[in-house]
Amino acid sequence: MPVTLPKAMLIDLDDTIISYDVGMDLDACWLHALRAHMPAVQDDEAREMVAAIKKRAEWFWSDPERHRIGRQDLVSARQGIISAALTKWDVRDPALARRMAATYGEARDSQVRVFPDALEAIGLFRSKGVRLALITNGSAETQRAKIRRFNLAGLFDHILIEGEVGVGKPEAGIYQLALGKLGVSADEAWMIGDNFEWEIAAPQRLGIKGVWLDHRGAGVPADATVQPFLVIRSWSELMSRVRTD
Ligand SMILES: [Mg+2]
Repeated sequence: MPVTLPKAMLIDLDDTIISYDVGMDLDACWLHALRAHMPAVQDDEAREMVAAIKKRAEWFWSDPERHRIGRQDLVSARQGIISAALTKWDVRDPALARRMAATYGEARDSQVRVFPDALEAIGLFRSKGVRLALITNGSAETQRAKIRRFNLAGLFDHILIEGEVGVGKPEAGIYQLALGKLGVSADEAWMIGDNFEWEIAAPQRLGIKGVWLDHRGAGVPADATVQPFLVIRSWSELMSRVRTD
């Protein structure tokens, strides 16, 4: 059964419209940063260091409160992660860790791509009169840079960046702010994105319908307490599932 388009869509940015983790070679970015600033380190040791940094990063970003603070200043967060990981090698140089963090960020940013079918789908929905808001967590500086780079501002009626509005997903206030700006009620809106907590569980508690972008086809988490309104693997799939005539 085709699904009827809603009055409004709230849409996530990272790994929804542009890549951030999906399809990214993060090992290569870390290795690049290590080689740039610690050129004497041998390959085997560099790979061990990368593994340690990634393990520390996984720990760091797994906590919602650390995540909330860290994403406002990625260079500082990554500097801390690198410093903690490299104490095992007796590397205790905050300035070096900071330079590595900056180089890692640049390498990672250079890999970011827009998903072509995202732009096609959003343009289609817009042409059908759907009101659109971009809702993204992170600092104003980093998120605005992505919006400018991929020329996304013109696609949306409103853009809400955590670092600009002072509230982020999964807090209720950010979804309510978006609904208010678009002039719709919760049941008239979809939230579309890849993060199950931020774009499905939290907005659905308010009555917004969650459309989960499950890139890898992992399926709804076994411990999930809610079911998404829709699960899609791509924007192309979403276009095929909605009634647009
Ligand atoms: Mg995302």
